[in-house]
Amino acid sequence: MAKQYETVIGLEVHVELSTKTKIFCGCSTAFGGAPNTHTCPVCTGMPGSLPVLNKQVLEYAIAVGLATECAITQYSKFDRKNYFYPDNPQNYQISQLYLPICRNGKVEIETEVGSKTIGIHEIHMEEDAGKLIHDEWEECSLVDYNRSGVPLIEIVSEPDMRSAQEVIAYLEKLRLTLQYLGVSDCKLQEGSMRADVNLSVREAGAKEFGTRTEMKNLNSFRAIKRAVENERERQIDLLEAGDEIIQETRRWDDNKGESYAMRSKEDAQDYRYFPDPDLVPIQVSDEWIVQIKERQPEMRAEKITRYKKEYDIPEYDIEIITSSKHMADIFEKTTVLCGQPKKAANWLMVETLRLLKENGMEPEDIRFSPENLAKLIGLTEEKVINSSVAKEVFEIMFDTNIDPQLYIEEKGLKTVNDEDALRRTIEAVIGANPQSVEDYRSGKEKAIGYLVGQTMKAMHGKAEPGMVNKLLKELL
Ligand code: ADP
Ligand code: ZN
Ligand code: MG
Repeated sequence: MAKQYETVIGLEVHVELSTKTKIFCGCSTAFGGAPNTHTCPVCTGMPGSLPVLNKQVLEYAIAVGLATECAITQYSKFDRKNYFYPDNPQNYQISQLYLPICRNGKVEIETEVGSKTIGIHEIHMEEDAGKLIHDEWEECSLVDYNRSGVPLIEIVSEPDMRSAQEVIAYLEKLRLTLQYLGVSDCKLQEGSMRADVNLSVREAGAKEFGTRTEMKNLNSFRAIKRAVENERERQIDLLEAGDEIIQETRRWDDNKGESYAMRSKEDAQDYRYFPDPDLVPIQVSDEWIVQIKERQPEMRAEKITRYKKEYDIPEYDIEIITSSKHMADIFEKTTVLCGQPKKAANWLMVETLRLLKENGMEPEDIRFSPENLAKLIGLTEEKVINSSVAKEVFEIMFDTNIDPQLYIEEKGLKTVNDEDALRRTIEAVIGANPQSVEDYRSGKEKAIGYLVGQTMKAMHGKAEPGMVNKLLKELL
């Protein structure tokens, strides 16, 4: 019988924190911007410049630690991780090795066979590196230090996951927690959340872990799933052939659906870590921890409980709406403005999710404002526009957040409530479609549908279908 193998996975997740300024200087963390404009002597590593810790970074890191049940290291320090690469202007990265700010936490995930706890080994703070741009035409590489010094936390899990499903459940849970805390938008595509996957296999029942590889460059859940499955197979094939697994860092190529070796894995000693002498040790008081805990915003579970009490909408809707903090925010604000929770929920659950999916976007990318959604709901309720026009307007609003009121006025999309005009149109439709009229009169009720359709068409969609139906029946 073929041997059975178990997959063992631990993740290192880097998250960019959404502070206004960088971790050790006052430069902006805004994404984009002309190259090297969000820079200063500190984040470009000029000799003699001195870093000063951004307190917000520390507060966010502690908040994440508390939300993941970590112990907070009240006496914490920064260390220098030395390596030479042009995106790293100091020739070292300021990180934490010996005294990471948070340790020994856990995250609860849901799996097919019930809930499971994934251990958090530690969370540490560090700075991001700049970006190299390889210019093929000029045969040179350019460097942009706008990202240099953007604050990161690295969340290191225990090797507790056993499948791609568990990895994704863990990442989703982590992402939701961080988004609810408001510390990061956690977009995999844009790199504000980056997961490195450490994976090994072992024979089912074995006590010792196998040799692991670390996979980088995974920027979607789909890529992660494929990479996990591919690496598991690759390692099993090697073992079956009697070969050894080499501990190395590999790069996933999502187009090819393959990974290739980047470098052999370096150990901590290769980085010659030592305490950063430019930064004072961090002392976190008991009171401050209590304050951060008290300031913690409403998390998903609490929100679900509150929605069940406050809004008369199905539990299914609540689950979906709260699966994104941004979507939940839009829902609440829209509901306050229009007083119609079920209508607000419907627009989010049906049209919004459809358009997100079609455009390969995530709920965090929703751009329309609660004000405009509330207006659209109001206009539909007051029958200023009918539901098919509303859908049309919504699609535009989804793209560019237009004001639906102005838009329908500009485009003349208001429902025609002039009964005489409608009557005249219906009479013309009846005259032009004798067959359908005969069918209807001889008992084929369905024939009316066609006549409604023809009338709507003649009215350019700007009639109220209910009213058209009523008048048609009358005139027939
Ligand atoms: P290093 O110090 O070399 O970075 P760590 O012990 O910090 O290694 O582990 C890094 C990551 O690799 C952690 O997320 C950990 O859970 C995971 N890991 C460690 N050993 C294994 C293994 N044998 N198989 C899979 N993952 C592992
Ligand atoms: Zn700077
Ligand atoms: Mg490590």
